[in-house]
Amino acid sequence: MDLGLQGKVALVMAASKGIGKASAAALAAEGALLTIASRDRVALEHTAQELRQKSGTHVLAIPGDVTHAEDLTAIVEATIQEYGRLDVLVNNAGGPPVGSFAEFNDAQWLAAFELTLLSTVRLFRLAIPHLRSSGQGRIINIVSTSVKQPIDGLLLSNAIRPGVIGLAKSLSTELAPDNITINNVCPGRILTDRLRKGPGMQQKLDQGISQEEAIKDLAQGIPMGRVGEPEELASLVAFLASRQASYITGTTIQVDGGLVRSLY
Ligand code: NAD
Repeated sequence: MDLGLQGKVALVMAASKGIGKASAAALAAEGALLTIASRDRVALEHTAQELRQKSGTHVLAIPGDVTHAEDLTAIVEATIQEYGRLDVLVNNAGGPPVGSFAEFNDAQWLAAFELTLLSTVRLFRLAIPHLRSSGQGRIINIVSTSVKQPIDGLLLSNAIRPGVIGLAKSLSTELAPDNITINNVCPGRILTDRLRKGPGMQQKLDQGISQEEAIKDLAQGIPMGRVGEPEELASLVAFLASRQASYITGTTIQVDGGLVRSLY
């Protein structure tokens, strides 16, 4: 299926690795021109080079931290300067830290708010005028299944990520007349460094469990019997960015092998 992304311009945040990188690769494979951003300049350039080689597409790599407003401005401005347009925004960032209620002070709550929700607000403010001009604007937020079913130990995510969903749902109404769709994608357990190197994995390695066994353990409770690959989620991102997804907006879709048991 031709997703109609040839020559469209996509900005993918937090794209040096993991879900962001896989999403960028899926869009590049469809012929989209890319801007990718994340904090580590060297890792980002390495990823950009890999994407160029695999897809042959143009990739602009702009280092930046989503919690720095001036970085977000620079990333969007560089995209417009390079391509003169923006059609697709994949809003992604690292997740807030693990912990229980008693562990977090005001500064940590504010940091999580800035990372997850305020960065989203700022990015939307910058991107929406250009998405309006696109005539086929697409926003895809990478969130978490915590927005459907709170995850034990991920209090900050459970409390703050639903704000992204509320914002996206409100904007889906506001942006529909401009032909901009906005949707949320919820990773379940997707095999990225976040899982490979996260605190849960370290605990298991410390107990002498091999990484392979630990990954199998992570599949417990997942009806599909395995963790997901970043590419399996990225396929949905590419579809939501496509011409064919023109009537899908305001939705929140999990890619979780059936992990979440809720009806909605
Ligand atoms: P990852 O650790 O593999 O990659 C995270 C990416 O985000 C990296 O490129 C990193 O450089 C970048 N990044 C982190 N903080 C940033 C910041 N402040 N500014 C700019 N870039 C930043 O993680 P992932 O698994 O790809 O996760 C992506 C998102 O999906 C995260 O928000 C994560 O919480 C969420 N998520 C992932 C899973 C999963 O199973 N992998 C599950 C639920 C939610």
